[in-house]
Amino acid sequence: MLQEEIKIGEISVPIIKEVENTYYPISYLMEKVLLKKTGQGGLKKEYSNYIKKLEVNYGYDTGGIQKVNCISEEGLKEYLKHCKIGRLSVEQRKAMNVLLEYLHMETISEDERFLKTVPDKIINKYNEYIRDCINYVLEQEPNIIWQKCTKCGNYYPYHINFFGENQHCGKEYPLNTICRNCGWTETRRKDYIIHPNSEFRTVNNKYGVDIYKLYKDQIRLDKLH
Ligand SMILES: [Zn+2]
Repeated sequence: MLQEEIKIGEISVPIIKEVENTYYPISYLMEKVLLKKTGQGGLKKEYSNYIKKLEVNYGYDTGGIQKVNCISEEGLKEYLKHCKIGRLSVEQRKAMNVLLEYLHMETISEDERFLKTVPDKIINKYNEYIRDCINYVLEQEPNIIWQKCTKCGNYYPYHINFFGENQHCGKEYPLNTICRNCGWTETRRKDYIIHPNSEFRTVNNKYGVDIYKLYKDQIRLDKLH
């Protein structure tokens, strides 16, 4: 059994090398490298085969020798593969990517999938049709969360008008991760973000947003007369 210090990004991490395996101290790794608060980092029973209690010397000033739970590199990789990233902050995602790169694993997206609000300056860049669709949904559900489409990168309300249903997504978040504009309908036709008014929807999808605007103005004028 041999202790070594390695560098993961800027952080030095004590590791224990055995003949077959390298072990990482779990709490230390969770807190210092993955920026998870203790308690958030507890590993479930399914990883117990990978975990061993080992003596780690944290140094005279920083805790001395302690007997702590350590996870093998193989177990750590398993944990990272199955780690739920939906709720991680941007900082935690960046931190996780440093570790993933160190282990030569595929990195994750550093953007947040969900946001509570999206600033007006971003929404104002969307075309008028989409802004109208957004306003309609916000009138019904002012506190709706927003999801980033994994394809075009735009944030839209997490609503069936913007993201199609996907039975594989589970009950908690049942909608697709790509928006309707990037996706396809169940009958394999190009899909579109849904406007509550089906006539407006058809005009936009057939003729584009400029005609949609003219059509909308015309209807507004007709109503005035
Ligand atoms: Zn999209």
